[in-house]
Amino acid sequence: MADRDGLIWLDGEMVPWREAKTHVLTHTLHYGLGCFEGVRAYSTDQGPAIFRLKEHTDRLFRSAHILNLTMPFTKEQLNEAQCRAVQENDLDEAYIRPMVFLGSEGMGLRADNLKVHVMVAAWSWPSYMSPEAKELGIKVRTSSYTRHHVNITMCKAKANGNYINSMLALNEAISGGAEEALLLDNEGYVAEGSGENIFIYRDGVLHTPELTSCLEGITRQTILDFCKDEGVPVKERRITRDEVYIAEEAFFTGTAAEVLPIRELDGRTIGEGKRGPLTEKLQSKYFDAVKGKLPEHSEWLTPVND
Ligand code: PMP
Repeated sequence: MADRDGLIWLDGEMVPWREAKTHVLTHTLHYGLGCFEGVRAYSTDQGPAIFRLKEHTDRLFRSAHILNLTMPFTKEQLNEAQCRAVQENDLDEAYIRPMVFLGSEGMGLRADNLKVHVMVAAWSWPSYMSPEAKELGIKVRTSSYTRHHVNITMCKAKANGNYINSMLALNEAISGGAEEALLLDNEGYVAEGSGENIFIYRDGVLHTPELTSCLEGITRQTILDFCKDEGVPVKERRITRDEVYIAEEAFFTGTAAEVLPIRELDGRTIGEGKRGPLTEKLQSKYFDAVKGKLPEHSEWLTPVND
């Protein structure tokens, strides 16, 4: 990733990709206290456009606030930085990664002279899963790792260190032959995937875990917005893993995963064992929205060349 042409926005300047470096004593590298976003730009009739940029930037600022990091830039500057990262790397579609991290001015947990840095990189990242997974769905395993407890780490923050838990769970799931992990909260209720929120559909109602230990997903919110438009009843509540086994349909949502059907959990087939009709409808509406083909939600797109 590091050895390539291009430009990365770092602390207000566009820096050549290979020169966008930090010191080995970077505080966040040692203790994980930092926050980031995963944002995407899609190709639309108006050129590349960032999906729900405002919501992602708002969440980045909320994450920083939760972690007590003082942002050295405004939201407008960060929005502009994300547009520039896509534009100046000549990307038509892109994954965008803003990150807020502490510098190398001091070491140790008590360091109090640390500078808050911000970077934004953008690159093309074709598909998070195999293209067939979007239709056929993926195999998931319930993780042996518990999702964060709300008073162990801050679950509303998309904090760097929180992702140790995600990576342990994902690596375990993959080495066990599954494609993704389902993490349960400390009481045993369904929380989320390693980097996705989850929905299940049963008896005419879509269900998703309430926002306690899972991240306030922007794709999750997009699905809730669609359900409001379409009159699909939704319940945000506690869900058990066996409710997922007996669901008619289940799917993950996330900026990287988009709307991803789940065909199996812990060796149990879910519904027909492939993408169900409601999942298909919401997935195709999602692709229309991100590609600028949903006029009623055109406000979700920020063309980068404006
Ligand atoms: N949960 C976790 C743990 C995540 O990392 C992500 C990805 N940001 C999500 C859920 C989905 O969030 P979003 O739809 O905003 O990408």
